[in-house]
Amino acid sequence: MKLTVLGSGGWIPTNENETACYMIETDEDLILLDAGTGLSNLSKYQHVIQHYETLHIVLSHYHFDHIIGLSYLPMMFNNHKIRIYGPGEPAYSQGVKQILHRFFSEPFSGSSAEELTPNISFIDYREGMFNVGNVEFEAFQQHHSHVSYGLKLDGALYYASDTSLLPETFQRAEGVKMLLHDCWELEPVEESFHSSLGEILEAIPAKATYQVGLVHRNPRWGLNELAAAQEKIGSRYVVFMEDYQHYEL
Ligand SMILES: [Zn+2]
Ligand SMILES: [Zn+2]
Repeated sequence: MKLTVLGSGGWIPTNENETACYMIETDEDLILLDAGTGLSNLSKYQHVIQHYETLHIVLSHYHFDHIIGLSYLPMMFNNHKIRIYGPGEPAYSQGVKQILHRFFSEPFSGSSAEELTPNISFIDYREGMFNVGNVEFEAFQQHHSHVSYGLKLDGALYYASDTSLLPETFQRAEGVKMLLHDCWELEPVEESFHSSLGEILEAIPAKATYQVGLVHRNPRWGLNELAAAQEKIGSRYVVFMEDYQHYEL
């Protein structure tokens, strides 16, 4: 499994970080985790896209910084099948098709999802196991302003964006090669729907065998915050994810 970071930031795209989008390649399947502005970077990976007939997109939740890139799909995909997976009932009162229909309806969008690309389908998921192509996913409900899900893929990758810190995530990640975790603040903030670096560093088990990649970077962070963060991290096995990075998992 190969991971390419297309968008490592949160909320607002910056010169350095587009918003949430991560490309997963296996021999059989092409998958995006979330569809933020980072989806625009897919245009640079036509050589990858052309190997696949289907693009799977798995949404952690429906905030704009995770779905706005769906409106860019026609730029890159004409003949591909597109399959969009999103949380439905019981976390939400509607399924992914109905929820995204609102996003694609007038006057927000000039065309419906079906008009964007002719071969599109929608699949609801809920907490537990489900398959995306040949990849086994497990979804865990997180704590965010609206329900978001942590997604564990084939025991290789755990994607935990947009959540306040849940200690169990760091136990469940045991066995994966990389945990991508929301990192929005340097220090804990009360009643936050995101996580802080201080909490993350405390939550990583001493014997953790996985690497922690920090994602959903706060766009307010400048060089001073990054320097302070690096100092906190020290020599730990923790890195800030950046757009265009590749990892073999
Ligand atoms: Zn977000
Ligand atoms: Zn969110």
